[in-house]
Amino acid sequence: MPQRTLIILKPDAVQRRLVGRILSRFEDKGLKIVAAKFIHISIELARKHYAVHKEKPFFDGVVRYLASSPSLVLVLEGDNVIDMTRKLMGKTFGIEAEPGTIRGDFGASQRFNLVHGSDSPDSAAYEINLYFEPDEIVDYRTSDNEWVFGCSY
Ligand code: ADP
Ligand code: MG
Repeated sequence: MPQRTLIILKPDAVQRRLVGRILSRFEDKGLKIVAAKFIHISIELARKHYAVHKEKPFFDGVVRYLASSPSLVLVLEGDNVIDMTRKLMGKTFGIEAEPGTIRGDFGASQRFNLVHGSDSPDSAAYEINLYFEPDEIVDYRTSDNEWVFGCSY
C-alpha cells in the first residue's frame, strides 16, 4: 500500500548546496514527489513541528536551527516510504550514522543533520498537515511504478 511521508531538506542542506544530491537519494530509490515547497520555516511552525520534543533539553536549539534559514519541504509517496526514508537518512547524529546513508555521508553534527523524515504514519499525518493543504498534494502515477515496487504475479 502506498504511504506518504514528510521530508525536509533542512537549512544546512540548502546552505551547503546539497539539495540535489540528497533529493537524488530518494529519487534513486524509486520514491515519488507528490508535493514540494521552498520556505523559511517560522519559529512558531518549527515549535509545532518539534512539539513532541518540547520537554527535551535540545528543543530550543532544534527549533532555532529549523527556523534559521530556508528549507525544502516535500511529501514523498511509495510503498513503505516511512521505513525506507528513515533507513536512507541513517541514524539521527551524523557521527553515528552509517556510511552510505544521507546523514552518514554528509553529516558530522548532532543537530545539523541535513534531513527530516516522519517516523510513523501518525507523525506523517500530523506533519504533512502542518505544511500542506490537501489540494497542494498531487495525485499521479509514475510509469515505472510496477518495475520499482513489483507487482502481484
Ligand atoms: P530524528 O530527526 O532522527 O527523528 P529526533 O526526532 O530524535 O531525531 O530529533 C529531532 C532533531 O533534533 C534531530 O534531527 C536533530 O536535528 C535534533 N537533535 C536530536 N537530539 C539532539 C541532541 N542530543 N542534541 C542536539 N540536537 C539534537
Ligand atoms: Mg524525529
